[in-house]
Amino acid sequence: MQIFLNNRKSNVDNNLNFGGEIDPTQRAWIEVSGKAIESNVRKLRAKLKKNCEFMAVVKADGYGHDAKVVSENAIKGGASQLGVATLKEGIKLRSYGINVPILILSNLYEKKDLLICLRNDLMPTVSTIRECLICNNIGKSNNLKFSLHLKVDTGMSRLGFDCNQFVQQFNNIKSLENIAVKGIYSHLACADEKNAMVPNSSTQLQKERFQELLKLINIDNTKNIKTHLSNSAGMILGKDFHFDMVRVGLSMYGYCPLGMINEKLSLKPALFLKAKVTFIRTIEKGIGVSYGNKFVSERKTKLAVLSIGYADGIIRNLSGKIDLIHNKKLYPQVGSITMDQMMVDITGSDDIKVGSTMLLLGSDGEQSITPIDWADKCNSITWEILCSFKNRLPRVQVG
Ligand SMILES: *Cc1c(COP(=O)(O)O)cnc(C)c1O
Repeated sequence: MQIFLNNRKSNVDNNLNFGGEIDPTQRAWIEVSGKAIESNVRKLRAKLKKNCEFMAVVKADGYGHDAKVVSENAIKGGASQLGVATLKEGIKLRSYGINVPILILSNLYEKKDLLICLRNDLMPTVSTIRECLICNNIGKSNNLKFSLHLKVDTGMSRLGFDCNQFVQQFNNIKSLENIAVKGIYSHLACADEKNAMVPNSSTQLQKERFQELLKLINIDNTKNIKTHLSNSAGMILGKDFHFDMVRVGLSMYGYCPLGMINEKLSLKPALFLKAKVTFIRTIEKGIGVSYGNKFVSERKTKLAVLSIGYADGIIRNLSGKIDLIHNKKLYPQVGSITMDQMMVDITGSDDIKVGSTMLLLGSDGEQSITPIDWADKCNSITWEILCSFKNRLPRVQVG
């Protein structure tokens, strides 16, 4: 078991004398399987069009898994590029000695930030002529070509050049001598919706618009420019969505954006969320539990108190809606989830003791609970559940 605590310790923690090493599994923690990430990347790559590259999207600390563990294992599985959201996320990856191309997916609009981007060998996403000119000037002052990706808006209305103006603007950009366009990309807005495969759906139209643009700028004649359109959902739609590269987040972590497909891909969730039982009590029938006493026992009830709560990122709206696993059996969480603790009804169990570990997310034998299940219960999405886990939960690499 390898522990990744270093980059999570605040300065305050570093200066404290703990009077002993605190076990990262002392109360609540996340286990991350590097092997699962690696094997998911391999399985997904096997579905790609020939010569299509795999960009592993590791923004938001690798969707809460630990960006270092995810990046290193994704590269082992064959990812050739990484995608992050922020300058800082990119710089952190470089500090770990990771040297594959890294694309920043959000927008950098200030000269000083674009300069930092270049100095750390990171590629920005550029959506305006103004930013192209800044990059070109930076390149000129440093006597080199500034590598970047251009983004075109085909229907997301977030970043990107206006689709209708891109052809003309690309011709201007081509004449800038101190930038190297390494990629041209767009982003799908509705690829995980049921109609994505239907002709004339907005997803199909986005793909057609992108293809049309690439034809108009004669992309085939422009070597070394990677074209890319698809996230996880887009990738699953088929090879005509693959272009030269796919940008995959969610499915690399083991979750399919379209519920139906995972059986075929047999992706493995890489994240296990666990917490220790710190206290056990038995209450009589008719007794209220937790803030607001929203749960009232209907019988004599044995309760386990777990040391994990919404300050760890467990969404409070899940109160009373989730189960936990112990020894391949399910136990219902009861009462309001509190900041640091929650209660679980363990009536009838005789193997759960103070110090036992319960599983909140992950699988044990036939039982399995995923962030997809949680998202359904609290009107959220799988991505948001994964990103909500706080740094108070140590990440521990297993396997
Ligand atoms: C986050 C992101 C992705 C990855 O999306 P998934 O649905 O997690 O695969 C791809 N491209 C861009 C631009 C993104 O911001």
